[in-house]
Amino acid sequence: MIIVPVSGGKDSQVVLSLALKTGKPLVCVHQNTGFDHPDTYAQLKAMESFYGITIEHTVSKYDGMLGYLKHAKYFPNSSARGCTEKLKQRPFAKWLIDKGLNKDNCEIWFGMRSDESKVRADKYGAIADDDLFTLGDVAAFYNGGKMKEIGAIPCRLPIVSWNTEQIFDYIEQEGAPLNPLYGRGHHRVGCYPCLLSRKAEWKAAGQDPTGQRHLEAMIALEDQWKAENNPRKFIKVHRVWDVRDFLAGKDVRELANEECGYCSI
Ligand code: SF4
Repeated sequence: MIIVPVSGGKDSQVVLSLALKTGKPLVCVHQNTGFDHPDTYAQLKAMESFYGITIEHTVSKYDGMLGYLKHAKYFPNSSARGCTEKLKQRPFAKWLIDKGLNKDNCEIWFGMRSDESKVRADKYGAIADDDLFTLGDVAAFYNGGKMKEIGAIPCRLPIVSWNTEQIFDYIEQEGAPLNPLYGRGHHRVGCYPCLLSRKAEWKAAGQDPTGQRHLEAMIALEDQWKAENNPRKFIKVHRVWDVRDFLAGKDVRELANEECGYCSI
């Protein structure tokens, strides 16, 4: 059986399509942070119809991203990124365990590409599309304690060598639905916005009603924590930017060397 984690974004969509072509049994799962854009949830539904599949959703013990932030009392950043573990990795591990999945009955196909960022080029540049490794190799989290069993599940990155153009071309040739966020200035799909993403993503989110709601909710938390003299170090929504500028529509310029510090699951 092939497990394909899908985000509603283009890369995991192509992986799903490639997995379907093998004719092997397939299970799709969305790592649900409760912080996706409504268009992404709609895209997941559209993918179910187009590919004739069902997409399952992981469940975290928090009330989505905002519930997690209220619990953690700090904003995730490149030094302390609890959101990935608490909202994606732990719920995914539980989903795998609850389904009785292990190295003997499944393999997992992920949609990471080395073309996506320098971080990913460094991490995945030496990997070929048909290389086989383990979930624990993808993220050391899955090697810990009781999870060793699932850490040994074999994994592939079938599009690790593909570039962005190839991905868009593949979806277009298939005639498949594409997440409309790509047409509105986004390069990434998932948490809206990812708290570690590049400025362009925040800027585009600041011009979208859902993004505005999410940014306003985070600013309200920042204000609350300041008023409460929260002693945690990372209580500013973003360490460098004033995210209020994105809501105000100010022209926030992106530095040439910025890149996304997105989840590695
Ligand atoms: S996508 Fe970004 S905000 Fe969402 S869990 Fe991953 S690192 Fe955190």
